[in-house]
Amino acid sequence: MSELDLENLISEIKTYQPLADTSVVEKAYHFAKSAHAGQKRLSGEPYFIHPLATARNLVELKLDPTTIAAGFLHDVVEDTYTTIEQIQKEFGKEIALLVEGVTNVGKIKLRGNREEIFLENLRKLFLVMAKDLRVVFIKLSDRLHNVETLKYVPEQKRKRIAQETLEIYAPLAERLGMGDLKGKLEDLSFPFVYPDEYKWVLEVSEKRYEETDRQLKRARGMLINELREANISAEVHGRKKHLYSLYRKLLLKDRQIDLVYDLVALRVLVNTVAECYEVLGAIHKKWKPLKGLIKDYISQPKPNGYQSLHTTVFGPEGKIFEVQIRTYEMHNVAEHGAAAHWDYSQRKSVVKNDAALDGDRGVNGASFEWVKKLASWQRMTRDSEEFKNLLKNDFFAGRIYVFSPKGDVYDLPKGATSLDFAFCVHSGLGSSCVGAKVNGRLVSLNTPLENADLVEIIKSKNQSCPKRDWLEIVVTGEAKRKIRSSLKRFENK
Ligand code: MN
Repeated sequence: MSELDLENLISEIKTYQPLADTSVVEKAYHFAKSAHAGQKRLSGEPYFIHPLATARNLVELKLDPTTIAAGFLHDVVEDTYTTIEQIQKEFGKEIALLVEGVTNVGKIKLRGNREEIFLENLRKLFLVMAKDLRVVFIKLSDRLHNVETLKYVPEQKRKRIAQETLEIYAPLAERLGMGDLKGKLEDLSFPFVYPDEYKWVLEVSEKRYEETDRQLKRARGMLINELREANISAEVHGRKKHLYSLYRKLLLKDRQIDLVYDLVALRVLVNTVAECYEVLGAIHKKWKPLKGLIKDYISQPKPNGYQSLHTTVFGPEGKIFEVQIRTYEMHNVAEHGAAAHWDYSQRKSVVKNDAALDGDRGVNGASFEWVKKLASWQRMTRDSEEFKNLLKNDFFAGRIYVFSPKGDVYDLPKGATSLDFAFCVHSGLGSSCVGAKVNGRLVSLNTPLENADLVEIIKSKNQSCPKRDWLEIVVTGEAKRKIRSSLKRFENK
């Protein structure tokens, strides 16, 4: 730990923000270093390695000097004699608010009656988050270093931190489209939460990786040649599926690793959207795709902003594997999500317009829809019990993505029905719903939707009040809340 760390950090920031004033980062570095002087981590190392690692993770996310400075300072109020007033005096109100936000989130712990407290804590977390997303970026960067050093933590506490990471922070990173961070958080926590399952997945996957890796190397060589002939300049990498995400998939596939086709995958990076489709064409010319497994997340991005083309093909030796095709820009978004869209000059996340997309949603529009929704839930739900149910049913249950006839993507919990969809689009649409077509076929209103369904709501001009028994059909807290409030309005008339 030396001045060299600071120099490296600053020059790294200059690579993505050449004109940034980094003096605040330097000041925060020195301030935190002296505030934590003499303190040690459980590993025996100087405490300061932790805020330093947190700041590094924020630089990895390409965040602005203000956020990085707050990263350096994130533990000084909690763990030293420094007060928040001092931070405000030295660094200004903005940084003080960020440090205070992270300190408050840090007090949130899973204890006692688990579920009850867990949900209440989530509520607090979201309250802080809706105020400033940068608090979450700092908290996630902080948590990453904490799970990287989990082995030094006493066993009892270790499991709690790992579990909290799997249950709260990794899903949060995923919902913010931060794929890289999510994968790291999960894989580092996995062995501490499910030690036996971890050993099992490691064992079944290791043998397969070797074999599949060899075949993939061959496929990669063939694909590079093919693309060269087609005159497309591209980078082709192999990517290994993260262990925890493999574990989740194995649970869905009766624990049969033969049924997991994306254990390893090829990832093709190109410059333009047009080239993505050219690459897809070149691949299908060479290898036959499996039916139903071509996914176009470029024209239909996932709600968290993820874009790519996916296809699963019969490759050399008839071996089935997945190929993911995206631009460098999409790759950056897939790895860093909301952080990639953070515009520090506007102090908010911005939706970039991508000329390749129709409409005005932009690359990452949908994911911020979600953050906005979160904030509005908090305003509308004064009752914390109701808010907890919203979170429990809507945030953490497995998700499905469905389409409106216009092609907009909606993100719903598993088990959601056409009625949930209708109320998610608009209260008025929900209230006047008399039927639904899913993929062109009429279905009853209580039929659960499936991933990628196209849902069309049939409405009637003569109906403007929801039916009371719909409360039994819908599963989302949002639909329940909207139905109840319409019913109440009609009863009062
Ligand atoms: Mn910390």
